[in-house]
Amino acid sequence: LVKLLENEQYLPSITPDGHDMTLMVNTGLAVDTVASLKPRIGGVGLYRTEVPFMITERFPGEQEQTRLYREQLTSFAPLPVVMRTLDIGGDKDLPYFPIEEANPFLGWRGIRVTLDHPEVLMVQLRAMLKASQGLDNLQILLPMITNVNEVDDALKLIERAIVELGEEGVDVERPLVGVMLEVPATLYQLGALARRVDFFSVGSNDLTQYLLAVDRNNPRVADLYDSCHPAVLSALHRLAEESKQLGVPASVCGELAGDPAGALLLMGMGFDTLSMNGPSLPRVRAAIRRVPHQAAMQLVEETLVLESPAEVRAHLTARMQKWQ
Ligand code: PEP
Ligand code: MG
Repeated sequence: LVKLLENEQYLPSITPDGHDMTLMVNTGLAVDTVASLKPRIGGVGLYRTEVPFMITERFPGEQEQTRLYREQLTSFAPLPVVMRTLDIGGDKDLPYFPIEEANPFLGWRGIRVTLDHPEVLMVQLRAMLKASQGLDNLQILLPMITNVNEVDDALKLIERAIVELGEEGVDVERPLVGVMLEVPATLYQLGALARRVDFFSVGSNDLTQYLLAVDRNNPRVADLYDSCHPAVLSALHRLAEESKQLGVPASVCGELAGDPAGALLLMGMGFDTLSMNGPSLPRVRAAIRRVPHQAAMQLVEETLVLESPAEVRAHLTARMQKWQ
């Protein structure tokens, strides 16, 4: 099987009935190893910028960040690199910026932190933009969006960073800007969000956590945490359909996208771009190359009427065995 997957790794991720999927990769550290995937992917769907911040002793300065981001952007150019602004809080703490709260996942997290500290966000935005000069493959992604005013405020800061850099003689293109759909409230605000941004990226990890009210890291409730819960699947299906209607490209970058059965479900729902960890790529590609798009749509139809995560899992296992 390993040999089979290796042989297929440079082949396109197209279904037997000709449906073309874009597979992208999630990055954090170790750009060297991931960059070797370049000929096999459509770019970086999620660069978690907080990861390099977690191993420094203080906030990296503008120059240091510019170097870091330039490395990502040049490694994958001309392919797009979606850089997410700092998503700290929740489970991701910086040793030099402790956040102590009773409910960190419901607290000061992601865009909430960086909009309260525009001086931190501005350094990051300036560094991203500077790093993109001449490459123009940067896209900026905003995490933990709950309200449209957060998008408006972030867009203003991006605009300000572009103007500032221009005044300093650094001319940069305005990058595409997107939001993470991971707080359930965004499900009901897609139209308002669509008027503001260029793309959506679905964070199925947090969307699952928040829809099910299950801490994604708490082993006591790990049995309850399941992205194949019918409510989560129904939410994802709705996100795919509405984004399409609104004409906003939507991809999925949570763990579900890196699971072959999950990826087939997402494809069947209408997501054409999936971003995952490097090691998940071969198996997801193999699944896409074996299962017709039509069959994946059928799988979604069969699955959406099931009533419990256990039934969904059992059904997916049975179907996957048939396709092996
Ligand atoms: C997600 O929430 O699904 C996601 C991709 O982001 P993270 O896992 O970094 O929160
Ligand atoms: Mg998330």
